[in-house]
Amino acid sequence: MPKPLPIVPYLKIPDEGDPYLEGHRCLDCRAVFLGERSVCANCSARDRLEAVRLSNHGELYVYSITHRSFPGVETPYVGAIVDLEGGGTVKGNLIHIDPDPEKIPLGLPVELTYQIAPRKDAEGNEYLMYYFQPRT
Ligand SMILES: [Zn+2]
Repeated sequence: MPKPLPIVPYLKIPDEGDPYLEGHRCLDCRAVFLGERSVCANCSARDRLEAVRLSNHGELYVYSITHRSFPGVETPYVGAIVDLEGGGTVKGNLIHIDPDPEKIPLGLPVELTYQIAPRKDAEGNEYLMYYFQPRT
C-alpha cells in the first residue's frame, strides 16, 4: 500500500516511526516558525534557521466554532490555534470535544493526532491529516 501524502508540507511522514510536524528554529533568538524560510521574522537573522521536530503537546490559545460551511463539510467543527510546547504555533481542528464554548477552556492541554483524510484526491491519493484533541 502506498504511503499517504502529507496534507501540508510541514507534516513529515518518516519511513520508520510516527509522523510529526516540522518547524524551523532560529539559532540566534530560538523563535520557531512553520515552513521553510531563510530569514527569521523575529530577529532578522539570515540563514540561521534549522529544522526541528515540534512537540505533539500544546495548549489551546484560541478557537472558533464553525456552524455553517461548504457542502460536504461536516459542521459544527472547532478550528483552533495551539501553542506547542517548546515553540511553534499551529492551526488545526480540535476534535473529540463537544463544540460548546462552555466546555472548551482557553489553555486546555491538547495533543496532536494524525489520521487519514476521509476523502482521496482525483488521482486516488490518500492524505495524512493532523488534528488536535484534549490530552488524556
Ligand atoms: Zn531569530
